[in-house]
Amino acid sequence: MKNVAVGFDFDRTLGTDNHLERRAFEVLAEHLGAPLDLTQAATHEAIEQLLVPFRLAQESMAGMMVRFAQTFLQNAPPGDRDGEQLAGRYRQICYNLVTKMVVPIPGAIECIRALVAAEIPVAILTNGWSELQERKIEHALGAFPGPVLVSDLVGAYKPSAEAFRQLEEALGVEPAELWYVGDNPVADIDGARAYGLRAVWLNRDGETYPAELTEPTAQIEHLDALPALVRGA
Ligand SMILES: [Mg+2]
Repeated sequence: MKNVAVGFDFDRTLGTDNHLERRAFEVLAEHLGAPLDLTQAATHEAIEQLLVPFRLAQESMAGMMVRFAQTFLQNAPPGDRDGEQLAGRYRQICYNLVTKMVVPIPGAIECIRALVAAEIPVAILTNGWSELQERKIEHALGAFPGPVLVSDLVGAYKPSAEAFRQLEEALGVEPAELWYVGDNPVADIDGARAYGLRAVWLNRDGETYPAELTEPTAQIEHLDALPALVRGA
């Protein structure tokens, strides 16, 4: 068999955190005596919007917390509205939630095991903040048998070419030999295809692939189909 290697997305591909970062805001607000009602669509949306620039590294965590305090902690004492202090508390709440909220995607552990048994190198390339992503990965999968590249640490975010270039370098194979598996058509599939990788769309919910994006090389509904697909290439 020729050289092949497999890179994985993490969130909703190998594991799910069940919206841990959103839940962490709820816990923080409770601690501060200003509970959020996330059943209200506007509140739910406001929290999601707070997270967007942070997840894209366009804003620091402290910056996100300053905006959180401006919107949701107007009546709290000034000492409870400091961005850095709130970020410290938020970070710790996120870590504490990992064991309660993060679970593997069905078939993930078996899929990785099968690839490793076939001597196919594996890696993870995930967008997010590294300390949380690393804890999530370890909790969901145990010790991962390959490089783990987290965007804030490597300084590149999917779907950028630089993110996939770093994955290629970490695995030491040519782009045409590198498969990338993910659930997100834009960040994972279109990005990987643009860089010249083979891309497998994990479509667990029977969704329709967006017509305007580059099509995946293959589409699977369950990770148990992946090892045979990669070995057969
Ligand atoms: Mg994902």
